[in-house]
Amino acid sequence: MAIATVNPTTGLVEQEFDPIDETEIERRIAAAADGFVSLSKTSFEERAGWMRAAADLLEADVDELARLITVEMGRPIGQSRAEVLKSAKGMRFYADHAEEFLAPEWLPDPSAVNASAAGTRYEPIGVVLAVMPWNYPLWQALRFAAPALMAGNAGLLKHASNVPQAALYLDTLFERGGFPAGSFASLLIPASGVERVLRDKRIAAATLTGSEPAGRSLAAIAGSEVKHVVLELGGSDPFIVMPTADVPAAVSVAVKARVQNSGQSCIAAKRFIVHSDVYDEFLGLFAARMGELSVGDPLDESTDVGPIATESGRDELAGLVDDARAKGADIVVGGATPDRAGWFYPPTVIADVTPEMRLFAEEAFGPVATVSRVADAAEAVKLANSTTFGLSSAVWTNDPAEEDLFVRSLAAGGVFVNGMTASFPELPFGGVKDSGVGRELSAAGIREFCNLKTVWKG
Ligand code: NDP
Repeated sequence: MAIATVNPTTGLVEQEFDPIDETEIERRIAAAADGFVSLSKTSFEERAGWMRAAADLLEADVDELARLITVEMGRPIGQSRAEVLKSAKGMRFYADHAEEFLAPEWLPDPSAVNASAAGTRYEPIGVVLAVMPWNYPLWQALRFAAPALMAGNAGLLKHASNVPQAALYLDTLFERGGFPAGSFASLLIPASGVERVLRDKRIAAATLTGSEPAGRSLAAIAGSEVKHVVLELGGSDPFIVMPTADVPAAVSVAVKARVQNSGQSCIAAKRFIVHSDVYDEFLGLFAARMGELSVGDPLDESTDVGPIATESGRDELAGLVDDARAKGADIVVGGATPDRAGWFYPPTVIADVTPEMRLFAEEAFGPVATVSRVADAAEAVKLANSTTFGLSSAVWTNDPAEEDLFVRSLAAGGVFVNGMTASFPELPFGGVKDSGVGRELSAAGIREFCNLKTVWKG
């Protein structure tokens, strides 16, 4: 894929960039290694001041950045603005809490020789490579960068090839905030250039958010180099609705949970699993609401659903729906690629999905929802867990015993009851099974790229 801003609303190339050459890659890795040495001599207080200054810069640029996100990947403008502000909030969260999350801990001496002290401390590990996707071009990168830099690590970002201008903005953000030179930089390289960087001895660890094949490839290389990885890959999250639920409220949240970011979110609810007692009510209301959404220019404040970010992503989504249709699924609303410029796909609701259909197992990265009928909670859990993914899940019920069953039984990194999955700086974020390894955000996220050093004093 060329490194370029291609506006998904028009399909037109707005700006192309040359990938950096080997000399520049080497210069940037060397600068990051030096940046780590400088950073590791700084205090939490200094880093927090620079992080807050960088968050101020981000907020000051909110309108310009929101427009950039919308032009590069097509998100409706109000949601782009919210991403910028959420990113700044995440940066301030780690400025405020990093020291407490990484505080040394003294433990009871377990040895027979009566040590004077035994305990642990968290230390930064070096330069961390982050391979990031286009779907939340600032938030995904900053939710890595904020804890990494606050811990004292340096960061190198290989951003997705279709969001180069976001990558270039992030390239200078932290130095503009006051961080030492080399603390953070972007590498404009293609995916094929990741291996060379990851195998470099000056790179200590890596994180990737994106597709399963990309994650597997990165993890295999990191494994052969004995380097730690955090992976946040796809999801096909279930959204379960039981008879005791407030069905109209569940429908309102279901629509939002499916079409946020025009459906291109790893934690979007994708499979709606509904008890037969409320199935007809849910399906009728849900399909009607999905069909009413406005699809169009994402720079228009009234647009609910913008284009799919890339042509290949739109074609992949259409292919999943066509496969389901050909195998007998009921396309309740949507389901046809519109004849217009740009890479649009309508909000689509599909019933009667069976295991032979690709949609049953694969992630639909766009505004396409499947709705399935179940007889009881046990069947809901079974269907919800019948996927290779395990990112998050949502369940709507007002029955405490049922709630307890779902919270314990759903094989996912999160369970949200009577709500939708969302990421918060305060809460851990990540998946199980093929959705990834490790956690981002909260205290867990900042500790991922630290050396938990045991200290014992005789
Ligand atoms: P990719 O996984 O291909 O891209 C994500 C990032 O990984 C990009 O920076 C990409 O670089 C890089 N990359 C791709 N392949 C490799 C590799 N072999 N080694 C190292 N880095 C690699 O996602 P796509 O954009 O192609 O989207 C495809 C699907 O992935 C989506 O339909 C969705 O299912 C899933 N996805 C999930 C996301 C999530 O939030 N979990 C986010 C985005 C996608 P480059 O852009 O240069 O190819």
